[in-house]
Amino acid sequence: MNRYLRALCVLCVWSLSSCAPATPTPPRADPILVTVDPNSTATPTPFQPAPVTDTLIPSATSIPTDTPLPTATITSTPLPTGTLTPAPAIPPASPVPVIARTKYTMYVNLDYAAKTVAVNETIQYLNTTGQSLDNVVMAVEPNLWSNCFTLTALTEDGIALTNYSLDGQRLTIYPPQSIQPGAVTTFTISYGIAIPAKQYENTFGYLGYQINLTDWYPFIVPYSGGWVLHDPWSFGEHLIYDAADYEVNVKVSDPKVIIAASGAPEAVQDWTRYTVSGARTFALSASDRFKIAESAVGSAVIRSYYFAGDEDPGQAVLWMATQSLGLYGVKFAPYPYPVLNVVETETPDGQEFDGLVFLAEKFYSDYNGTAKSDLIAIGTHEIAHQWWFGLVGNDQAMEPWLDEAMSVYSERIFYEYNYPKYGDWWWNFRVNYFGPSGYVDTSVYNGGTFRLYTNAVYLNGANFLDDLRTRVGDEAFFAFLQDYATRFAHGRATGYDFFAVLRLHTDKDFSDIMKTYFQTTY
Ligand SMILES: [Zn+2]
Repeated sequence: MNRYLRALCVLCVWSLSSCAPATPTPPRADPILVTVDPNSTATPTPFQPAPVTDTLIPSATSIPTDTPLPTATITSTPLPTGTLTPAPAIPPASPVPVIARTKYTMYVNLDYAAKTVAVNETIQYLNTTGQSLDNVVMAVEPNLWSNCFTLTALTEDGIALTNYSLDGQRLTIYPPQSIQPGAVTTFTISYGIAIPAKQYENTFGYLGYQINLTDWYPFIVPYSGGWVLHDPWSFGEHLIYDAADYEVNVKVSDPKVIIAASGAPEAVQDWTRYTVSGARTFALSASDRFKIAESAVGSAVIRSYYFAGDEDPGQAVLWMATQSLGLYGVKFAPYPYPVLNVVETETPDGQEFDGLVFLAEKFYSDYNGTAKSDLIAIGTHEIAHQWWFGLVGNDQAMEPWLDEAMSVYSERIFYEYNYPKYGDWWWNFRVNYFGPSGYVDTSVYNGGTFRLYTNAVYLNGANFLDDLRTRVGDEAFFAFLQDYATRFAHGRATGYDFFAVLRLHTDKDFSDIMKTYFQTTY
């Protein structure tokens, strides 16, 4: 089946819900895709290894050293206060706002019972493209659902814009004057969202006890010789994001509702203001039933949001998140955000956003009290995405291995440092069981079935990174990871960048490994 038919097939599935996506944008002419079996059903997740009893691991429960996870300490202590420094001198007035990167400021009224949000959004857009721009493209993901997104006003620098088009997820704005390189222009957008019922495969939408807002606001897509906005696909992620600064002010109709969000909260009059810098996404989850466990690493506050009955896994998640943040903060780069929230929701596996990740309810209900569990393995995977997706961005559709293979292999590093005796278990449970094969540099569009795609990108990607590490040695491997994370912090990297930085750290020949795993010659 070609890609267009496949997209229609996806539409059939989506349209079963009460708030189904509108007809998708016709597919782009390229890339050419391989034929996909129309009757193939994607395995729901790359992260659903068969139950332990079905795997090839005979000793998963018989190793005497299996120990329950330690109970994470709940701290309610306030963060240590930093040394007070004198206020800086006020800079001279400037005719143009000086910003380091694009900033999103939002005022969000969430009516929890009505399942609606009304938003006033301001985007101070900094043109870093080096080009004079005649148009600007925003992604508006809620517009992929019917009757979900309503645009009520659009301005640029205070003047109403009338020359724009909204087609599927693509909002194209034609400003009266082109935007010069280095210039800042301010867009305001007012809109409402009728939140759709959440489908199992997605995080966006409402459940009876939870509302998740993910990829929910218009954002300016990256520019790389043209605006980069790929078509949705039946699996994997298609969006690419530039890092931006966020100030999101939220008011909720119901005072019992608790919100987990990508930024650090503060009360500002009757709003709660969340701020985060250099993030790609701003997600939030609201529920009147959340229970919370909290810890911290350095200045980063870590919270586990879970539901009644899931106290033990909720605490285990907190412990896992605390260990992960501490370890990756040393092995990769300091954690880039002020908060890390791990939120339970109904979904097949996990999903990463900056400062907030979701984990599947069934991981909580299936939790066996040990680290030999999806809850811990996939939990640390989603947290690793804070570095490989969040800090270092990439084209998730065309080069998904850059964040997915790296996050799978980060799981291996997590177990290596926390549970060195679980190494064989992890390789068998997460990788070898599936018999991974295929080119690591496969895109979401040409991977064939979901299983084949994840076998190539995620799992063979982990094999590649392990072979690479063995070849270059631990010292060079981890020096490379740190350098790569630092050089591309809040930027975007490609496969070429990956290997260019790697070559700075080793003289070893790894061309045979590259030939084995990659179709691209980097
Ligand atoms: Zn992932």
